[in-house]
Amino acid sequence: MSQSIQPQPGIMDIALYEPGAAHVPGRGEALKLSSNENPFGPSPKARDAVIRAAHVMHRYPPTDHASLRRAIGEVHGLDPDRIICGVGSDEIIHFLCQAYAGPGTEVLFTEHGFLMYPISAMAAGATPVRVRERARTTDIDALIEGATAATRLVFVANPNNPTGTMVPLSELERLARAVPQAIIAIDAAYAEYAGGDYDGGAALATELPNVVMLRTFSKIYGLGGLRVGWGYGPREVIDVLNRIRGPFNLSGPALDGALAAVMDREHVDRSRAENARMRSWLADALAERGVPSDPSWANFVLARFDDEPAAAACDEALRADGIIVRRVAGYGLPECLRITVGDEASCRRVAHVIGRFMTDRAAGSGTERPA
Ligand code: PMP
Repeated sequence: MSQSIQPQPGIMDIALYEPGAAHVPGRGEALKLSSNENPFGPSPKARDAVIRAAHVMHRYPPTDHASLRRAIGEVHGLDPDRIICGVGSDEIIHFLCQAYAGPGTEVLFTEHGFLMYPISAMAAGATPVRVRERARTTDIDALIEGATAATRLVFVANPNNPTGTMVPLSELERLARAVPQAIIAIDAAYAEYAGGDYDGGAALATELPNVVMLRTFSKIYGLGGLRVGWGYGPREVIDVLNRIRGPFNLSGPALDGALAAVMDREHVDRSRAENARMRSWLADALAERGVPSDPSWANFVLARFDDEPAAAACDEALRADGIIVRRVAGYGLPECLRITVGDEASCRRVAHVIGRFMTDRAAGSGTERPA
């Protein structure tokens, strides 16, 4: 290609996003616990809706997503006119950066935050600014201190990925009020797993002019492959984002599948309850085997090892057993492994292999354990 044809400045500095691995070479069926997927899959009603929609694939889908927005609005008690749907919440992150950030502006995100924030910021020509966390938890004071007149967007995943930790909504409100020059994007991809009365920031986004909430169908709804997410915020912001949204960004099957999924509350409740049960079981089982983790509010546990070689060796041991978890060195956590909470059998299998790894390691280091 001609030397004179070059992408926009900064594009070639973007590190490619690395998804969780899906296969272990040489092994047929691996147990994939690397992408925070729902082990129970989607609602059967969503599956049926997608199959039905396949019969009309020759038709263009609606551009306004009215039925899906109405259903989301009903379930969450939100005004559908303030909702925008995207190809995963990834696309809403992208819209926000495209619309509000650009050369000479800054996009803030937290030390161990989701890597799509800097990727989308750089794609828009903006400067991504990483702000330190405190003990793997969002530090609101640090974000307030880190913000400048050039700050246009602040992304906070709450609960965060890959740490699983979260901060109270009162802290996010404090941030939004202290940084009025920027949009605070509360990324609530894992909100349903947090339990209690956590609304993902919906009430804040209703009330404040600079708060947007991001949600996804990829996690508790088990529809990562369908690619549907949504955002909710001030009418003016949603209007701006709609102007850069492709008119047919969501396919007919995606719209119909997500609609059926959001209506099936039983599937959501069951997935939440099972996750809560096995999340605490897994965290306890790992702790008993000498592997600590922070209390997680999501559908994964961030297992902490002594150092990077120990995490790498444990990852190898898991792979040798056909289990794939997520190395998170790219998130500044080289001594950790992020493990999705699977079904009960999967959790038991993971705990067993990690227990064996820790015992072998202790034996190797000369520690003596009673038989
Ligand atoms: N935000 C966070 C914090 C995530 O972990 C993810 C998925 N890894 C996303 C957003 C994007 O999800 P999706 O595009 O599938 O909706």
